[in-house]
Amino acid sequence: MIWDYKKEVEAIEKNLGDLTFEDRRVLITGGAGFLGSWMCDILVHQGAKVVCVDNLASGLKSNIAHLLDLENFRFIEHDISEPIFLEEKLDLVVHMASRASPFEFEHYPIEILKANTIGLMNSLEIAKKNQARLLYTSTSETYGNPLVVPTPESYYGNVNAIGPRGCYDEAKRCGEAYVTAYKNQFGLDTRMARIFNTYGPRMRFDGIYGRAIPRFIDQALNDRPITVFGDGSQTRSFTYLTDQIEGLLKLACLEEARGSVINIGNDKETTILDMAKKVLEITRSRSEITFHPLPKDDPLRRKPVITRAEEVLGWQPKVPLQDGLARTIEWYKSSK
Ligand code: UDP
Repeated sequence: MIWDYKKEVEAIEKNLGDLTFEDRRVLITGGAGFLGSWMCDILVHQGAKVVCVDNLASGLKSNIAHLLDLENFRFIEHDISEPIFLEEKLDLVVHMASRASPFEFEHYPIEILKANTIGLMNSLEIAKKNQARLLYTSTSETYGNPLVVPTPESYYGNVNAIGPRGCYDEAKRCGEAYVTAYKNQFGLDTRMARIFNTYGPRMRFDGIYGRAIPRFIDQALNDRPITVFGDGSQTRSFTYLTDQIEGLLKLACLEEARGSVINIGNDKETTILDMAKKVLEITRSRSEITFHPLPKDDPLRRKPVITRAEEVLGWQPKVPLQDGLARTIEWYKSSK
């Protein structure tokens, strides 16, 4: 199998059906990141006018290099936590800017807090000035280490504000409070996605940016030991990027979704050890699995209730883990 960029775009557009973003004017903060750049791809392909703001802290210019010369795409290298004036009129603001890897939480806690509070407020002000809609990408981390699994949107969370994940979890929770405040005080049209673990092409595997799946792929294909933290019995529910982008775009587009917060994630739960074994199987790697201490506050289980996404957005994850991993592995090989 050879990884094909066009096939990913086609898969997302097919799932969007009649929804279109033609001529919509969209700002995406964090638009050079893993998910942000795929949002840019689809919107640009659909004929939207896209402004992408990214400070390239964890995003990569290579993710958007193929868009830079297009007339309906403008990239501004800028930290959204700092003030910005945009001359464009906008219909939709998507605030995605934030580092998201647990290793980054240790090194850049203040940047993370700022991106989801001051940065988000800058985005909210832009949306307010333009009377535009705002989509905020929040996270399953607002549930912390959940005591209710599967976890519905109504669950308040179990978060340690002063633990190693506090900067991210509390920043996103505060972000949700900001969005709610702008909705209630100014009547802004807002939507929030609580994104569960998502993976796929363009996800970073290097250094502090690497998440479990790309790290395991990188280790497996380079004959290095697979580093499972704890005994690997902790779970995550992994969503392939085409499913995630479909969910986010439906949330951004559908009138019924106004004012909502919706879990966008897979309802198939997998242990980290099983995921590591699947990577080894697909790559046919002979790397051994090694076990390392479980980081403090690492959530033991993560699995969403997705009834709201099904009912409001008509959304369900479609890509099985086996297929998504195979596509991610092929992308990894083709990017070398
Ligand atoms: N993990 C692991 N080995 C690694 C990286 C991560 O076992 O090299 C574990 C991590 O402890 C967590 C899960 O895999 O339980 C998912 O980690 P990820 O980095 O994707 O982020 P998280 O879901 O914890 O935010």
